[in-house]
Amino acid sequence: MTLHKNLIGGRDVPASDGAVLDVLSPADGQLFARIPSGTAEDIDAAVKAARAAFEGAWSKLTATERGRLLIKLAAAVEADADHLAALESRDNGKPLRQSRADVTALARYFEYYGTAADKLHGEVIPYLNTHFIGVERVPHGVTGHIIPWNYPMQIFGRSVGAALAGGNATVVKPAEDASLTILRIGALAREVGFPDGALNIVTGLGRTAGAALTAHPGIDFISFTGSPETGTMVQTAAAKNHVGVTLELGGKSAQVVFDDADLERALPSLVNAIIQNGGQTCSAGSRLLIQRGIFKDVVDAVAERFRTLRAGHPEREPDLGPMVNQAQQRRVEKYLERAKNEGLTVAAAGGIASDAPSGGYYVAPTFFAPVAHESVLSQEEVFGPVLVATPFDDEAEAIRLANGTAYGLAAGVWTRDAMRSTRVGRAMRVGQVFVNCYGAGGGVELPFGGFGRSGHGREKGFEGLVEFTTTRTLVIAHG
Ligand code: NAD
Repeated sequence: MTLHKNLIGGRDVPASDGAVLDVLSPADGQLFARIPSGTAEDIDAAVKAARAAFEGAWSKLTATERGRLLIKLAAAVEADADHLAALESRDNGKPLRQSRADVTALARYFEYYGTAADKLHGEVIPYLNTHFIGVERVPHGVTGHIIPWNYPMQIFGRSVGAALAGGNATVVKPAEDASLTILRIGALAREVGFPDGALNIVTGLGRTAGAALTAHPGIDFISFTGSPETGTMVQTAAAKNHVGVTLELGGKSAQVVFDDADLERALPSLVNAIIQNGGQTCSAGSRLLIQRGIFKDVVDAVAERFRTLRAGHPEREPDLGPMVNQAQQRRVEKYLERAKNEGLTVAAAGGIASDAPSGGYYVAPTFFAPVAHESVLSQEEVFGPVLVATPFDDEAEAIRLANGTAYGLAAGVWTRDAMRSTRVGRAMRVGQVFVNCYGAGGGVELPFGGFGRSGHGREKGFEGLVEFTTTRTLVIAHG
């Protein structure tokens, strides 16, 4: 049994009161590690260590030197890929191939932000002829990062990678259900030579360690990825300290399938977008909006595929792994029960692999069709392998339904009509629109974020680097 430690000021330390949290494997429910249950005191020590780095060794580096460290970290992550992937699958339950994809993305984030660090230019503004105006991009200072359990490595890469590239010193609170790869990244960062305190990691519960981090007056900017409910608490805490916050929250993303769509191309994507990571993806394509003339054909084809899907042990490359924990499994099961009690029609259900360990948190993927747009399953984020399909008649109705939830994170549009794809794509009130493709979250290079209940601010891409900086304007009189 491994007992992990926090990373504070370059040192591995237990929680200030010695408390620990059990780490259970979602595949079989068995205890296999322990992590510190971080306290407000630990957070305070981490913020102080970050401040010392920000005012000391870390700020002495040039942007190029910071970038080089991130590029070294990318190489270290790649060299450690097998270990990181196995650790993630054990901790979080995702199939190994998904964990490997997460490691690749993590290394790519470090590479992207490492190479971008010295390309973030300020500007010179024309003003009075007697003055020179320079606007430089400067770090916020000490940034706090709260990470969820569904894609810990990717979300660490995009938020902490960008913050470090921008010159901030960081304090990270990973999710209690998936902290192990984050702690491993911390160890790798130390090995490649990040100065003590530039990256601090405190594991623990959201309501204690997380809340202490977001409320800490020494934090200058907060990046939060997680549920809308916690996002409200985080933004409230940030408001009390008058600091900015990026909120990357949930979604109820629609895939709109017009009657001229290339269905052969669309079908695997329609299914994968809700099965990837067991549907525990903020930008999961959880709603299918299908033009009425092809509704039955598309539902039948999706149903056929759904019946073959099996949730199984992450190391056996199943279609999907278990849910991350028992609470998440129960949450999804409750939605399924409620939908059935409301009389919604199950178009198809997959199953649980016969060799899946009995103590694991498995859920059979389920597809409901037709489902009314107003139904709970069409409106609320289930965060599991549950798909609904709703018919629409014309373009206007498709846009109204796609935009008709409180969320606004991503959308898919399937049509062969180029004019329509642009028109409908541009009508979507979301941060990313995919036309004739669907890549949950998109690539490292692409700005990502939401409208409404999906949050605000943008991470990923160059825009994500800008997000972790602010400006200082120098007004120089010379005549
Ligand atoms: P969550 O809100 O329960 O937890 C997220 C993080 O917040 C965890 O680290 C948790 O410990 C911490 N936390 C909990 N309470 C806190 C508090 N009071 N103060 C500070 N921190 C606190 O979310 P989750 O269940 O881990 O993740 C699922 C949610 O995250 C879904 O809604 C999903 O859509 C969303 N998500 C969004 C994105 C995105 O980029 N938009 C990406 C991944 C996940």
